[in-house]
Amino acid sequence: MTRGADPDLTEQARKLFAGPIEFLKSAPELKFIPDPDVPEIAFAGRSNVGKSSLLNVLTNRKGLARTSNTPGRTQELNFFDVGQPLQLRLVDMPGYGFAEAPKDLVKRWRHLMNDYLRGRAVLKRALVLVDSRHGLKEVDREMMCMLDDAAISYHLVLTKGDKVKPSALGALYETTAIEAAKHPAAHPSIFRTSSETGSGIAELRTAVLEAATS
Ligand code: GDP
Repeated sequence: MTRGADPDLTEQARKLFAGPIEFLKSAPELKFIPDPDVPEIAFAGRSNVGKSSLLNVLTNRKGLARTSNTPGRTQELNFFDVGQPLQLRLVDMPGYGFAEAPKDLVKRWRHLMNDYLRGRAVLKRALVLVDSRHGLKEVDREMMCMLDDAAISYHLVLTKGDKVKPSALGALYETTAIEAAKHPAAHPSIFRTSSETGSGIAELRTAVLEAATS
């Protein structure tokens, strides 16, 4: 959680996410990504982790991020413009960890991710979403290592917090924090969220704005 978040920043973030937010474009290949003219915050996570739900709640828009459970239909980076004048861009990265994903698809995903993460100076932070019912999985650790290697600072974000007991969530938070501390690019602030109840969402908005403006 963000401890002692600046109340002004929290209010700024609330206003920003209550204002204009628009889908900009989908990029199936790197050559289609927008010019790097504004700070970007990227969202990553296993498919079904609750990424679309979180993006929708974060931006107060029901259908902004669409979910697709078909492997192969999610191999794109989706860009969303936040603020008018434009202040930052949210980047919805393709979900990973489909059990049945064909090998060449996984390879394509890895290339797209690596190319984007390594060459993007405006990418200020990533959010790696982790399902509170399951905790960190091997594919999440791979993602974390990829971000470590690319030196992109990232927050771990526990999703679907309403689905587990508070005691279990507390325990998961602790073990996740211990593991995160071993990763050089993992930010010490870890978020507990629920798109269902809205808990942790205001804190996450503030962290996104803070990362974009730092
Ligand atoms: P994505 O594949 O990562 O984009 O995941 P979705 O956002 O489509 O969510 C996958 C499933 O989890 C859907 O059935 C959502 O309704 C559900 N879900 C997502 N977030 C939450 C949450 O915070 N609480 C609960 N109870 N369900 C959630």
